Amino acid sequence: MILVFLGPPGAGKGTQAKKLSEDMGFVHISTGDILREAVRKGTPLGKRAKEFIEKGELVPDDIMVALIEEVLPEEKSVVLDGFPRTVPQAEALERMLSKKGRKVDKVFLFELPDEEVVMRLSGRRTCPECGALYHIKFNPPKEDEICDNCGAKLLQREDDKEEVVKNRLKVYKEKTAPLVDHYRAKGILITLDASGSVEEVYENLKRILNEEGN
Ligand code: ADP
Ligand code: ADP
Ligand code: ZN
Repeated sequence: MILVFLGPPGAGKGTQAKKLSEDMGFVHISTGDILREAVRKGTPLGKRAKEFIEKGELVPDDIMVALIEEVLPEEKSVVLDGFPRTVPQAEALERMLSKKGRKVDKVFLFELPDEEVVMRLSGRRTCPECGALYHIKFNPPKEDEICDNCGAKLLQREDDKEEVVKNRLKVYKEKTAPLVDHYRAKGILITLDASGSVEEVYENLKRILNEEGN
């Protein structure tokens, strides 16, 4: 099964995708995580992507499509978190999958009002070592600014600062929101109320997955 998580930055896609992978064995592919790791290591991909990420712009489609082609597993169930983000990326994904006799099964649209998106992003902290996600108010670590899993010092992403957040929301509306119609037309779009607690959203997500069957 191949799931796509769609929705504005900060809606909780990464948080839910991690739960799904721990709980149900989905392979979690977060293009944002892969890109940040590449930037951190200074790989050729990281060097090309860095300036786009810093400005809150999208990394060009050709780079992203090549990246996904490389990391997509052959058979396993996958949750795609942060890809596709443009219509051309979605079309490239469809071509790639159809060659393997696969397809996107369901697309979950995470719905959250802008004010809440901003609140979630402004308090987001991430672990640079293990990728764990926290929120200073909604999901704080046990010890201030320290990762529960691995003890590393938590960071605020540069692109979670106010000016960049504004641009990311604008880019989402211009480039990514059109995917809603794209997937609705295919009959595979499911809207998910992303405004409850982490547990509530996850219960809902699982209920829908079970109801719809595999
Ligand atoms: P968020 O989880 O807040 O939505 P991500 O971690 O998914 O953000 O992405 C961070 C940044 O990485 C984006 O602002 C963009 O620059 C880049 N990026 C991630 N995925 C893609 C993609 N599919 N296409 C283009 N750029 C991407
Ligand atoms: P996305 O991947 O969509 O950008 P994240 O999963 O990184 O979103 O979540 C953004 C921030 O909001 C993080 O700080 C996370 O801890 C917090 N968060 C995620 N889901 C919820 C929720 N249901 N309620 C409150 N805060 C949440
Ligand atoms: Zn950690």
